[in-house]
Amino acid sequence: MEPRGWLPLLLQLGLMWPLGAPSEPRLRVFVVPHSHMDVGWLHTVQESMQAYVTNVYNSVVEELTLEKKRRFIAVEQEYFRLWWDGVASDRQKGQVRQLVAEGRLEFVLGGQVMHDEAVTHFDDQILQLTEGHGFLYETFGVRPQFSWQVDPFGASATTPTLFALAGFNAHIISRIDYDLKEAMQDNQELQFMWRGSRSLSAQQEIFTHVLDQFGYCSEGFNWDGEAIFPGTPLNGMYLQVQIPVTEDSIPNFTRLLLNNVLTRASWFRTPHVLWPWGCDREFLNASLQFPNMDIIMEHVNNNTSEFNFSMEYATLGDYFRAVHSDQVAWQVRGHHDFLPYSSDMHHAWTGFYASRSGLKALARRASTLLYAGESMFTRHVLLAPHPNLDPAWGLQQLQQLRWAVSEVQHHDAITGTHALKVGDMFVEHLSSGMQGVQTLMASIIQDRSPAHSVGRSRACSLSAGSEPGGRFAVVYNPLAWTVTTIITLTVDFPSVSITDESGRPVPAQVQRSKEMPSAYDLHVLTTIPGLSYRHYSIRPRRSSQEDTEEPEPFVAKTTWFGRRLRRHGGRVGGNLVPVVNDCYIVFLDLDTNLMHSVWERRSNQKVHMTQRFMEYHAITDFSKGPFADNYVFRPSGRAEPAWEAVRMGIVAGPLVTEIRQDFYREVNDREPTFAIYSRLAHGPQSSDGELLCHRIEQEYRVGPLELDREAILRTSTDLNTGWVLYSDNNGYQMQRRPYRNYTNNTNARNYYPMVQSAFIQDRRSRLVLLSEQAHGVSSQGNGQVEVLLHRRLVNNDPAKIFADLILNDTSVIHPVVWLLLGPRNLTSGLRQRSGLALQHRPVVMLREMSEIAPRGSGSRQQEAVTLPPSVHLQILSIPGWKYSSNHTEHLRTLRKDRKHKAKADLRRVLLRLQHLYEVDQDPVLSQPVTVNLQSVLRGLGSVVSVEERSLTGTWNVSEMHRWTWSTQDLHHHRGNSSQPPPPPGGPEVTIYPKEIRTFFIHFQEQ
Ligand SMILES: [Zn+2]
Repeated sequence: MEPRGWLPLLLQLGLMWPLGAPSEPRLRVFVVPHSHMDVGWLHTVQESMQAYVTNVYNSVVEELTLEKKRRFIAVEQEYFRLWWDGVASDRQKGQVRQLVAEGRLEFVLGGQVMHDEAVTHFDDQILQLTEGHGFLYETFGVRPQFSWQVDPFGASATTPTLFALAGFNAHIISRIDYDLKEAMQDNQELQFMWRGSRSLSAQQEIFTHVLDQFGYCSEGFNWDGEAIFPGTPLNGMYLQVQIPVTEDSIPNFTRLLLNNVLTRASWFRTPHVLWPWGCDREFLNASLQFPNMDIIMEHVNNNTSEFNFSMEYATLGDYFRAVHSDQVAWQVRGHHDFLPYSSDMHHAWTGFYASRSGLKALARRASTLLYAGESMFTRHVLLAPHPNLDPAWGLQQLQQLRWAVSEVQHHDAITGTHALKVGDMFVEHLSSGMQGVQTLMASIIQDRSPAHSVGRSRACSLSAGSEPGGRFAVVYNPLAWTVTTIITLTVDFPSVSITDESGRPVPAQVQRSKEMPSAYDLHVLTTIPGLSYRHYSIRPRRSSQEDTEEPEPFVAKTTWFGRRLRRHGGRVGGNLVPVVNDCYIVFLDLDTNLMHSVWERRSNQKVHMTQRFMEYHAITDFSKGPFADNYVFRPSGRAEPAWEAVRMGIVAGPLVTEIRQDFYREVNDREPTFAIYSRLAHGPQSSDGELLCHRIEQEYRVGPLELDREAILRTSTDLNTGWVLYSDNNGYQMQRRPYRNYTNNTNARNYYPMVQSAFIQDRRSRLVLLSEQAHGVSSQGNGQVEVLLHRRLVNNDPAKIFADLILNDTSVIHPVVWLLLGPRNLTSGLRQRSGLALQHRPVVMLREMSEIAPRGSGSRQQEAVTLPPSVHLQILSIPGWKYSSNHTEHLRTLRKDRKHKAKADLRRVLLRLQHLYEVDQDPVLSQPVTVNLQSVLRGLGSVVSVEERSLTGTWNVSEMHRWTWSTQDLHHHRGNSSQPPPPPGGPEVTIYPKEIRTFFIHFQEQ
């Protein structure tokens, strides 16, 4: 490749480095050896360990020990830990400790995996980093300071903020739009200061380096052969082995290297060239890698006058320290992300936002179960001084799920871009982790050993045959606010009685279940304080009871409206039926059986709104050019309606009114392919009930799809949105997404990930979509928003067929989306809290009534934990780390006694609080909030000390000093000088908009 922009660089270098010292090489090349090890892609973790991971660590440690100058960076902690715990000998462990101490083996990123940035929730990103960082700190006393996000498909603006909070000094990304990268190369803009959060701005900025177009691979410099998996495809997906470096071959290698180095150097503003050496699965035979590169390096360094550059092995830290010392004033980038990602004009990587939708749902369900399990366990350990439950066993259950949830954040996991058997592995790890935590929860509510636990939660089936039994339902609210909501249980019969702790009947409603004709849904209205339990008794009513005075749940009847044809040709809007609650009137059109409009009652605004399922037809023929796959969205044209008829039913009741719309692909189909179940609640008008009133809860049914179809739900409104959509980064912050026209692929390039929310708006109103899991989202017209829900693709690419990387997903999925409609000030205040109400719904656990009455920690006197409305309890957990919070003491222990098995510290509680609002989002909710932790946490015990820590817990924040970098932005303040430092160890904390603050809390022994 021709070096571009080389002349301006020489001029610049001439200015920066006086020509008086010609013997000094102009460029310094930092060769950073690494191996990209996907935690599941075409092969499972176990297969990968066998085929190459073990060899990578065995041979790299050996080769580094042999030669002082050699370096290596280690990235994925899941693999490193498997090697460390299960393979490494004592001798190897000693060598690793030595290499780490000397800075020759450097852990970068430090998460369990290299997480995806588009479809992951930031809670889970933090979890997976925390898991890896905790291990590294505990084992070596080190804390990663540089990121290495070189393969995720697009880069989110949440990541720079999180990495800054974790104490990182520099951040590396790679996959951004091909045309943007080209422009950034030409203008030497690949390095900049990124202020990822609008509200935190310079306070949490981070130096960011975008890898140039060569990415993280160094083609032509791999000598170690290929990983041999059972059935390895020989189709070019694996790199070819190079001939060894000899006197004859060295000119070829150096020519290749010289061209590459000069080309790269021209794209950067400093004379330091980052040269990542490695690729997927490389260094499995480091004894062939290093000696070959040693020869090239020696040759270049002996002839620097010829090459004009020097070479050295380096870690990322070595490279960034050199760049940092250059004192360049860096450009500043605001809070915009690099999503979506196109690798060229025909390949928009927006399909993976919806690939394997079922796995995306499971990953999030596992994460929210873990969230609830963590605080239940913490509460139990703190409040039950002599629990029947072994805390070590409890911790083990949580640990297993922490690992499984961390693993699935990998950029080939939750993205749905893996082979079928690898998907099975993710599901198995998540399922068994969830089972363990459910068993733990059951043990906690019964305060007994796990062997006797019911071990079920959420799922609930009451059979009439179980008389005279019945069930106790224990409901736990994992949020630190009082929540009023409706929980749903499934029963086999309509006649039940349900009472609360004091034996009083509770508001409830029974109706036929929507997809199980023989079962009934029992809706129960509940109000639960933060981190607290409610207990209900549910008994089948015997016929002899039926004429007693005791009130029983209202049995709601369904009114059905016959099928209406899509092409009915008649007029619409002339025959409307309203469904009303205190906040909305939803009008349904009996001529079409579709939604017609929604009236928001407080603002007295009516918005026309219709929802239709549609499908894109995917291009999947390998022989006809670019085609769709797990990664790429490649529709052949506009979306088409995917149904011919729709039937509607309305189930009206005092607690909930449900609208059931079944969409039939063909007029006479027996089963619908699509369905929308919408619910409006008639809850109380207290402040807690406001969230419940102000949402239209929807659940969809989608599938099974026909071949090569991509299903969307398109909501069309009369909002004048100007084709502008807003969608979130990882549930943390919103991005504005104006529709853009491209020469190619415009539909696909206007798709974005929706992890938790999206909205469209005009001056009058805003329509918010809150989602339980990740989907794709787009606005392909004025007033429109569409959600990409499900994909089924069978392309004929032989390589993908061989690798079993085909998205022949025949499943039926049930995604949940809540709609909020209203003026901006109303929806802006409700959006975040409603999103959390969806994410962390109360957990329902059941017990046989024949057992003795509940006496677990749930039924003890409980005091609620309640935070102000703008502050969210992001985590409350007992991590079980063994290290001392005092860094010096921890290092001393590590030096002294490596074999010593320290015990998990069960009194150290990890607390993370998040301010939900942006600086100017809401006049009240955006204010800084002062929280007295001692009084907020009173219900869990008496707080002895509060210590503020870095995001992943490894730093005491007062000891964490990140590098400062010069910027071109003179107006902005630097550092967090505008805010008072937190009082050391004090119980009062002031939390500013969008801040995420992490603490260790020590409670008094009971
Ligand atoms: Zn990868």
